[in-house]
Amino acid sequence: MAHRRFRPASPSPSLPVLQPAEHARAMRPATYRTRRLVRTAARNWRLLAIGAVLLLLEVVFHVRSFAVVRPATNLDPPFHIGCQEPILNTSSRANAALVMLARNSDVDGAVDSIRSVQEQFNQHFGYPWVFLNDKEWSREFKTRVGKAISDGGGASDITFETIPPGMWGYPNWIDQDEARKSMASMERRKISYAGKESYHHMCRFNSGFFFDHPALLNYKWYWRVEPDIEFTCAVTYDPFVEMERNDKRYGYTIALWELGKTVPSLFRKLADYKMRRRIPTTSLWTAMMDPSYLPWPIRRLIWWVRNRDPYGDLWNMCHFWSNFEIADMEFFRSAEYRDFFRFLDEDGGFYYERWGDAPVHSLAAALLLRPDQVHHFADFGYVHRPFQYCTHAPTDDELRRGELVPDLRGRDVSAWPERELGCNCHCDPRIETVAPACFNRIRSTVM
Ligand code: GDP
Ligand code: MN
Repeated sequence: MAHRRFRPASPSPSLPVLQPAEHARAMRPATYRTRRLVRTAARNWRLLAIGAVLLLLEVVFHVRSFAVVRPATNLDPPFHIGCQEPILNTSSRANAALVMLARNSDVDGAVDSIRSVQEQFNQHFGYPWVFLNDKEWSREFKTRVGKAISDGGGASDITFETIPPGMWGYPNWIDQDEARKSMASMERRKISYAGKESYHHMCRFNSGFFFDHPALLNYKWYWRVEPDIEFTCAVTYDPFVEMERNDKRYGYTIALWELGKTVPSLFRKLADYKMRRRIPTTSLWTAMMDPSYLPWPIRRLIWWVRNRDPYGDLWNMCHFWSNFEIADMEFFRSAEYRDFFRFLDEDGGFYYERWGDAPVHSLAAALLLRPDQVHHFADFGYVHRPFQYCTHAPTDDELRRGELVPDLRGRDVSAWPERELGCNCHCDPRIETVAPACFNRIRSTVM
């Protein structure tokens, strides 16, 4: 009670400099208030303890709601395991094309990639090739690529196409000065390719207009081939036909982490979009997220932090590496996907940030497809530097532990021929095998 005297005085405009003794006295009210708080807390400790337990329980429930419930059976096994006699049929049976977007300067890599695809797959199946470029094709590109395809055996139709200007370049609502400023700033922050305007045009094209290119409109299925890849197993069945037969819409070989700084606002905008359009949450969407461990309501207060949704939960940045894709183009031409792409395009993040077609396609698949419509080509060995994917099946023990794609980093893969899923694979020990964390989370939606 005696302490009441030390209530703080109201602030005066000209505060005098306090002497040490006075200073100590002035500080006392704060000490007093703390003590009073401690005493109140001590009196109400039961209430506080219950509050703390409730918050903790809420966090536990919240985190558990992000666990993906694995199905009882594998909903997405490989279409084939090992080799079979490829059914020689050089007039294609699915309405499909192999498609490569490239520059004339990519010719060396393009020839190597094409040789790999022809040798491992297309010499037996003879699917047509379509080449897309924003510039006129050089004579050298056409001759060398044409030769690589015919040398590889199997007659394939080849078309060299250019991209109409309306599909490549800035849309009129982009402030180009602003965009170039962002690009320069991203380049200073060492975001790869972000300083190159053409890379942004490419990502935007691949995210949307690609599927409406006149040369592709007559095809339903496509296999994307980049000029810097290699397939390390033989593909002895028709993946397009199997996709169709198994009701799959999108296929990938590698799932990995995006660098958050390339797409800082993409996830937040899509989370808002998902809410506004009332799109239900699929288990694949959940698998691409990590829960916040902060208690309610604190976690809602951090919604503004990069890659979080309005509830404060986080995109874990897992996505499919879209330099390989086998997909149903009707999906990308659907009203739902068009609406989704228009929303992103109007936002401008393809230019003001560096949205890649990989996170865009991946989050679209997570939003708009059933998880079992997404296929992992677990039997396709694939290299796109700096990573590769090698095709080995998990053991029963690994499966139980949720290691759905075995961690092959630093392991001698030649030691487990019995676990090989592909046909005649030659996993390259010099190239880093991709870490399986994203795979495991995504695969748990289907197996
Ligand atoms: P990364 O895979 O992200 O490292 O990038 P790449 O350099 O492999 O480019 C991705 C794909 O887009 C490749 O097929 C490139 O040939 C193609 N590409 C990139 N920029 C351009 C461009 O300006 N014009 C054309 N025609 N193709 C491009
Ligand atoms: Mn590439």
